[in-house]
Amino acid sequence: MKITFLGTGVAIPQAGRVQSGLIIDAGSKPLLVDCGSGVLKNIFESRYQHTDVNTIILSHLHLDHVADVLPLIKANWLCDKTVSTIYGPEGTYQWITKLLDIYQYMQGKVDINVIEMSSGDVVTPLGTDCRITAAEGVHSVPSLGFRIESGGRTLVYSGDTEPCTSIMNLSRGADVLIHECSFPAGFDVTNHTTPTSIAGFLVEDVTDIKNLYLTHLYPQMQGHEQESVEIIKYHFAGHVQIASDMLTIKV
Ligand SMILES: [Zn+2]
Ligand SMILES: [Zn+2]
Repeated sequence: MKITFLGTGVAIPQAGRVQSGLIIDAGSKPLLVDCGSGVLKNIFESRYQHTDVNTIILSHLHLDHVADVLPLIKANWLCDKTVSTIYGPEGTYQWITKLLDIYQYMQGKVDINVIEMSSGDVVTPLGTDCRITAAEGVHSVPSLGFRIESGGRTLVYSGDTEPCTSIMNLSRGADVLIHECSFPAGFDVTNHTTPTSIAGFLVEDVTDIKNLYLTHLYPQMQGHEQESVEIIKYHFAGHVQIASDMLTIKV
């Protein structure tokens, strides 16, 4: 599998990071996971064509994860690609239906298939061999993490969450865990992760995770990147890295 980080930032704008999004390429059609503001532009900047992106997997419905979904669907419609599939948490169908109620000029022009997922659900998107398992994180709205398995390799994406046992159980044995790390050590936050709050969950004989990439960085993380990696490395022997927009990794 190849992963391209399209957006590693959050709702507050900052230099070099747009909102959340990444592409999973298992050799068949690309899967887009989350699609915040700036992601459509970064698909354009990437090796992928937006017209090839018609399967979108949403962790949750916060704006910094979904703002570019309708613009992507519109761009594809204008290029005669009208069919898309969205996987997402409970409420996804109502969300896209209400959006299309507002943008009536798109009604009847696009064909959006919505599949709502909850903890424990397993899907394999058409045209791929990716087995995707969902687990619920701890966030201010229902938010899913995903375990994506293909060709004997495993990637886990946390979505927005506090460090929690459900996402860590989902991550057991993963080749790569992409986990949010919104704030630096010392921030007292709920619903999100800091290097100190995740460190205790990364005991490797329990999780057996090989590589950890940190994403979903608030501007407050600027200047604390190296310190954050070092705090985690103290507890975790695997590879730890801060993700950046347009970084591509092999899983
Ligand atoms: Zn969120
Ligand atoms: Zn977010």
